[in-house]
Amino acid sequence: MPSNKSLADWQQFAASLSIEGRAFIQGQYVTAQSGKTFDCISPIDGRVLTQVADCDEADVNAAVHVARQAFNQGAWSQANPRKRKKVMCRFAELIRQHADELAVLETLDAGKPIGDTTTVDIPGAAYCIEWYGEAIDKVGGEVVPADNHLVGLVTREPIGVVACVVPWNFPLLMASWKLGPALAAGNSVILKPSEKSPLTAIRIAELAKQAGMPDGVFNVLPGGGTVGKLLALHMDVDCLAFTGSTQVGKLIMQYAGQSNLKRVWLELGGKSPNIVMPDCPDFDRAANAAAGAIFYNMGEMCTAGSRLLVHRDIKDAFIDKLLDKARGYQPSNPLAPATSMGAIIDYIQMKRVLGYIEAGHADGARLLAGGKQVLQDTGGFYVEPTMFDVPNPAIRIAREEIFGPVLSVVTFDTMDQAIELANASEFGLAAAVWSSNLTTAHEAARRLRAGTVWVNCYDEGGDMNFPFGGYRQSGNGRDKSLHALEKYTELKSTLVRLR
Ligand code: NAP
Ligand code: MG
Repeated sequence: MPSNKSLADWQQFAASLSIEGRAFIQGQYVTAQSGKTFDCISPIDGRVLTQVADCDEADVNAAVHVARQAFNQGAWSQANPRKRKKVMCRFAELIRQHADELAVLETLDAGKPIGDTTTVDIPGAAYCIEWYGEAIDKVGGEVVPADNHLVGLVTREPIGVVACVVPWNFPLLMASWKLGPALAAGNSVILKPSEKSPLTAIRIAELAKQAGMPDGVFNVLPGGGTVGKLLALHMDVDCLAFTGSTQVGKLIMQYAGQSNLKRVWLELGGKSPNIVMPDCPDFDRAANAAAGAIFYNMGEMCTAGSRLLVHRDIKDAFIDKLLDKARGYQPSNPLAPATSMGAIIDYIQMKRVLGYIEAGHADGARLLAGGKQVLQDTGGFYVEPTMFDVPNPAIRIAREEIFGPVLSVVTFDTMDQAIELANASEFGLAAAVWSSNLTTAHEAARRLRAGTVWVNCYDEGGDMNFPFGGYRQSGNGRDKSLHALEKYTELKSTLVRLR
């Protein structure tokens, strides 16, 4: 439900909040055992919002210990799924009741427009948690064909202690994609938010408790740098569900190999191609979607349509439209309801994005729009929506994930060439194709090596029913949908001999 608050209302509301920055272990907010904290900074203006617990090994061990105890004790792991459903649904409802507070925390912490956090991030997280709650008492095991003297059961059991390590671009939403299925399935969970955006994860821990989740089942461990690694190396963590960069995903697999071979699920980066064929059914809609694909959420999207592949015959006309649509994304105060583009998550990421823009110039790409840092006087981190015409698709800006509002436009002449360009990537998270021809669209969809393919749209699919994840170095396993439950359960065969 869109909120009707003004900028002044949101600013006042933000100023009235007392922000919790402690970890949550065994049903209680606690400081890090070392007493250490770090500054939680708002990218809106560079201001320190609060101090956040800087957890380390002692806190990780404590959280894993209580999570294991809770799992073994069974109040959650062995509860009738109907009971878990009830708690999950209440948890989702409490998130909805605190939607404004959570939205403003997310906006302050991550620089996302309030119009997005109120309509996408927070309601999306509540919906996800509720969806898995509602699902869990409806999925059962199998009685499988076997020798006549046997009864063969195939069942799914919770894995045990699940650590969820998540990024900063959709802090609560990405967390919910893990928490939903992991908790519903009966696991104990330790959530490790990004140090750049820990606030909503910390806040919802108390809501989970209020909803009736037993102590120790849901724990939150903020920290800078080492918490994720310690969880991934821990001998008593059974599963590590990660969303973040491909680089860190590779490390996490190594940590699992160095420790207990915990199950590792990776949702990683992307460099998704958006292909516009000359028979694109609606230029206006396609240009609008292409702009949203790269400029929504400041381009800090794993599915960002960061490579626009456009047919030579329509290129100029399409770019004109796209430039027009891009003007709809101008950075401004994220707390203002009309803002379409907020701040880049932090100074480091802004410098990274600006570095790629420099590299684009140096590598011979032609700037079509944007290219600069803006709103410096705010003390925050803002970059204009930026587009390059890229004659050589092998240059860095057209290959590497920038995770910012920078689009590479690449020209093609034939469908085969478009597919080849699209698939020439280490990633395979998402792709899109625009065509009025049914055969072209279906053929392209089949040939594109990506976990999600959009036809005549981009970034559609708010429903939980679509599995989400990547081919190749975009990761393994899938978030969302009933398939996600597979990640958080072990499959057991039980064979009972009758004679
Ligand atoms: P990141 O640097 O990989 O960090 C992700 C998480 O891992 C953070 O919580 C981080 O904690 C933690 N971490 C960092 N180093 C670690 C290590 N050595 N061992 C264990 N954990 C470690 O990614 P990010 O910059 O937050 O997010 C951007 C990336 O996420 C992009 O590549 C984007 O494509 C990807 N992403 C993917 C999806 C998807 O579903 N496929 C969705 C959203 C984002 P600290 O913050 O404390 O360092
Ligand atoms: Mg922050």
